[in-house]
Amino acid sequence: MVGSRTQRMRRMREWPREGRAVRDTRTDAPADAENAARFATVVVIGAGQAGLSAGYHLARRGFASALDAPDGARTFVMLDANPAPGGAWQHRWASLRMATVNGIFDLPDHPKPATAPEVSSRDAVPAYFGEFERETRLPILRPVTVRAVTRLDDDADGDLLVDTDADPWRTRAIVNATGTWNAPRLPRYPGQETFAGRQLHTRDYVSAAEFAGQRVAVVGGGISAVQLLEEISRVAATHWYTRREPVFRDGGFRPEVEGREVIARVTADAEAGLPGRSIVSYTGLAWTPYAVAARERGALERRPMFTALEPGGVREADGTFTPVDAILWATGFQPDLRHLDPLTLRNELGGIALRGTRVAAEPRVHLIGYGPSQSTVGANRAGRDAARALAQRFSAAPAPETQTTPGRS
Ligand SMILES: Cc1cc2nc3c(=O)[nH]c(=O)nc-3n(C[C@H](O)[C@H](O)[C@H](O)COP(=O)(O)OP(=O)(O)OC[C@H]3O[C@@H](n4cnc5c(N)ncnc54)[C@H](O)[C@@H]3O)c2cc1C
Repeated sequence: MVGSRTQRMRRMREWPREGRAVRDTRTDAPADAENAARFATVVVIGAGQAGLSAGYHLARRGFASALDAPDGARTFVMLDANPAPGGAWQHRWASLRMATVNGIFDLPDHPKPATAPEVSSRDAVPAYFGEFERETRLPILRPVTVRAVTRLDDDADGDLLVDTDADPWRTRAIVNATGTWNAPRLPRYPGQETFAGRQLHTRDYVSAAEFAGQRVAVVGGGISAVQLLEEISRVAATHWYTRREPVFRDGGFRPEVEGREVIARVTADAEAGLPGRSIVSYTGLAWTPYAVAARERGALERRPMFTALEPGGVREADGTFTPVDAILWATGFQPDLRHLDPLTLRNELGGIALRGTRVAAEPRVHLIGYGPSQSTVGANRAGRDAARALAQRFSAAPAPETQTTPGRS
């Protein structure tokens, strides 16, 4: 066959694409994943706040649903591993209520409905996202997990193959919006496997009632650690361990002043390709009502990180032994990018250098909900910025009429 693999792929876009395996009629051999793949100009991976924002802005900028108009000049599809709308919010613990979240930014052009502060965020946010999806009719396929993204050849402008647990997709670009929930940070300490009590990560936390009457070590210096210490210390004896002295902010945090300054620092680090850090390591902790309640109960007496685990407890930094029944690793999350490993995006520091939302070394990949956009407001803006960059990149193609709500018919 004449031409590069990418040229062949482009010609194959003229073929019917019903999402079923295509057979090569000359050999009757089962076609491989590339041949079977459906095509979208852009594939958005993940439909949490970041992915929904990207999808909304792609639609506004004239990208059509690849499900409705597979032969359109500029198309997109969204693949989401969750069975229902809500991104990671549908998995948060029940006691994380609208009153105790830091604040959830509106999805684009769709203000949040008023919600009572006592309503659990894992109910309120997925309901809001579900309503947004119904109104915008974004082309979301779920549950579909992306297993790997690979380059089809060494053409720097060639197609990417998105391998999933359902149909594979070929695409010119991806917007990765897979969040952090499925990649908890779990540090290793000597003797961890010998500990006879219960160990769990924030991700597995259900409620403080499970720890009633127990001795619980809470590890971590972030917002979740403080929230969970406050809850658990109402019913259990807690010990708080952090690697560094936690920093509480005494002054306020004005989005337009301190907020902008933090975003500038995180952006500079992302552009330099430094490995991601938690946002709280830039902002410090706030004296929220739950932090004050924990302090008043004596639960914020921080201890230096223990050095080892033993069957009945932990060995403190000063050598003494503290018996505990459970260890809650409130040690945060990291970007869940395992499916991008075949693209070898990471540098020698373990980070990925960005230019805006685009990976500096791989312009076909945008990362959103990542680095400076790891918040609901950041995710929203990053989705818009990625869509704008992609609209510019594919502007040579004849643009279909702008539509604000991609139909799924
Ligand atoms: C405990 C906790 C509390 C937080 N509280 C706040 C707060 O109060 N305010 C705030 O602004 N921010 C908060 N954040 C941060 C905030 O949740 C996120 O930054 C924001 O919601 C952006 O979400 P996202 O779209 O990047 O990711 P997510 O909401 O995690 O969505 C990612 C989506 O990608 C899908 N996905 C993952 N992997 C794959 C794959 N391989 N294939 C297909 N789909 C995949 C997932 O199923 C999921 O639906 C909090 C974070 C945590 C962990």
